[in-house]
Amino acid sequence: MEDCVFCKIIAGQIPSDIVYHDKTVIAFKDIHPVTQVHLLIVPREHIAYLTDLTEKQSTLVGHMILVANELARQTGIAEKGFRVVINVGSEGGQMVPHLHLHLLGGRRLSEKMG
Ligand code: 5GP
Ligand code: ZN
Repeated sequence: MEDCVFCKIIAGQIPSDIVYHDKTVIAFKDIHPVTQVHLLIVPREHIAYLTDLTEKQSTLVGHMILVANELARQTGIAEKGFRVVINVGSEGGQMVPHLHLHLLGGRRLSEKMG
């Protein structure tokens, strides 16, 4: 996707702090972290919204969760706890229309979800 910021990061056209990559996903540091650990786990394939996922692509989200678990262990937040978030659409707070999972941790997060 030409104008997609995450596709550009994946293509190496925009610099980012990449912490993990494999053949289906990459993970990099959020440019505006809201917690000490704030990583984005992003499929290489451009899927705009979670709601666009097809049955064939559904294993991708499971893989993204496993990568989040591994990165939580690597960054030392797994034991105390962390949060994974997928924002969907405008009311869901999704600013970048390329599916991504936020991995948030490093401090006590608000109990309020909304
Ligand atoms: P959303 O609101 O779509 O769920 O989250 C998008 C996230 O992407 C935001 O937390 C924002 O800070 C991050 N972001 C937007 N543009 C860039 C960028 O160019 N580089 C990086 N590393 N993060 C970005
Ligand atoms: Zn994209």
